[in-house]
Amino acid sequence: MNKIAVVGAGISGLSMANYLEKQNINYHIYERRQKEDLAGHGFLIPQEGIEYLSQIIDPSLLFEHGSFLKKYTQYTHTGKVLAEKDLNNVFAISRQSLVNLLAQQIPSEKITYGETVLFSNSDKKKLRHSDGSDIDADIAIISDGSKSRIRREIFKEEKMRTVRENEVVNIIKNKSIADRIENDFMKFHHEDGGLTFGILKLSADTILWYAQFDNEKYRINELPVTHLREYMIEIFTAWNPLVSSIIQNSSYENVHLWCVYELEELNPFYQDNIVFIGDAAHPLIPFTSQGVTSALKDSFTLTKYLVKEDNIEDAFRKYETERKPEIETHINNGRVLLNQFLLPLNQQTENILPISYK
Ligand SMILES: Cc1cc2nc3c(=O)[nH]c(=O)nc-3n(C[C@H](O)[C@H](O)[C@H](O)COP(=O)(O)OP(=O)(O)OC[C@H]3O[C@@H](n4cnc5c(N)ncnc54)[C@H](O)[C@@H]3O)c2cc1C
Repeated sequence: MNKIAVVGAGISGLSMANYLEKQNINYHIYERRQKEDLAGHGFLIPQEGIEYLSQIIDPSLLFEHGSFLKKYTQYTHTGKVLAEKDLNNVFAISRQSLVNLLAQQIPSEKITYGETVLFSNSDKKKLRHSDGSDIDADIAIISDGSKSRIRREIFKEEKMRTVRENEVVNIIKNKSIADRIENDFMKFHHEDGGLTFGILKLSADTILWYAQFDNEKYRINELPVTHLREYMIEIFTAWNPLVSSIIQNSSYENVHLWCVYELEELNPFYQDNIVFIGDAAHPLIPFTSQGVTSALKDSFTLTKYLVKEDNIEDAFRKYETERKPEIETHINNGRVLLNQFLLPLNQQTENILPISYK
């Protein structure tokens, strides 16, 4: 098997490296950030994603680092229950924990941190080290995220557009709230639509909260991050006391404000010896809760065809043929979920779960 360079050590690049490792395929993975420089949000992962993760991480170790959510409850902003649904093996874990677990299995000589890989379409389509020297690889697997520079360099015509939603995500230590919410996933909705607040437990003493804003009504993306706390307190002041107290009492040290983007149209997933996986191939909006599972399935499927097929082009084509239709379903479901979110509560339909299923 030819030598493979994997660009980006997020969930897609690291899961790819894990599958290649299991198949004894020669690879090296490059990551822009430093090893310990891990920030970020958390993931909801449906059962299918857990099944793929369990192929590459010891399940008992995985389950120690997150928690299974048992029930989803939808509330009005003041706390009146609107709907409830039992959850079937939906797992919550911080990005940091999952990245660490996936990175543990990669031998240190096969991963380089602090290395921004360079690529220019006009430069014989070669990957380069940050010092400009060539990267020695026959196949490039690109997993550099939703705003992939390599993808934009190859598909210059692509159009990224802003999604009508911004998300503020925070992970805080608070055992008493974690005990109080148990394994419930709680989501509060403003009656007029376009504003929600979600709370879930990541571990015995850690919770994740997030707020979703219609960015045409709430100009949160124009706000300096230093003013986020004040703004959040103001917006959520008359909400259920659980929500307003969490907002008041949280540390904002690790808070994140996400501007969400999507591709107007998907590009091909490969060109020549370059193939895209995860968000680099297909940014998915957070409403789908399918980013991680899709990244895992991309890595699994691509590895399967790299092993089976003698010819790289056949492997890439079969990978794209198998994965693209499912991704298109999640993109469409994501748009439906986004439209629901923007509507006033009394116009939203029964399908309450913030997860896209194929
Ligand atoms: C607010 C928010 C909430 C979300 N919630 C969920 C959820 O509940 N469930 C879920 O399944 N998904 C969720 N997602 C989506 C999920 O985060 C991604 O789909 C998933 O992490 C896959 O990411 P990735 O590995 O493809 O890309 P990324 O995580 O973006 O990783 C890309 C990596 O490439 C590195 N990199 C970039 N350029 C270079 C370069 N030139 N050289 C070297 N390295 C480079 C970056 O440093 C980064 O580490 C959410 C996303 C957001 C923003």
